[in-house]
Amino acid sequence: MKVEKNTVVLFHYRLTDDSGVEIESNIETEPTAYLHGHGGIIAGLEKAMAGRESGESFQVTVPPEDAYGPRKPDAMQRLPIKHLLGAKRWKPGMIAQVQTSQGRRHVMVAKVGHKFADVDTNHPLAGRALTFDITISEVRVASAEEIAHGHAHGVGGHHH
Ligand code: ZN
Repeated sequence: MKVEKNTVVLFHYRLTDDSGVEIESNIETEPTAYLHGHGGIIAGLEKAMAGRESGESFQVTVPPEDAYGPRKPDAMQRLPIKHLLGAKRWKPGMIAQVQTSQGRRHVMVAKVGHKFADVDTNHPLAGRALTFDITISEVRVASAEEIAHGHAHGVGGHHH
């Protein structure tokens, strides 16, 4: 069957940046699953998935505006170092998590002082064109429960 609204798509991917460096891949592990048409993956990739079939492989390059957005120049924040989660010692360039009112988000450490750190709250992939090599392993009809939740369950999806 073809990828359309309210189908669950299982896929393997390799994500590279505009200079061909691998950022992420799930080739060696279980596929990722998402519910099509609910914004569960970045917009540009969801668009490229529409109408594809199980077994299909393709490559798509997604511009920043259809991925994690442009980099905002005013996104630097000074935070107490103890609010950075994920490591004991921090160096510029490391990715930390911080708790916000919208849940945890990733920030990049720009400068580390004695008690405070300057972090860049842009998404680490903001402002970057992303190239995905995709292989679709399965397309299936979503269950009523998956549609109600707005995400895929089972292998590669959410586990409750
Ligand atoms: Zn659910």
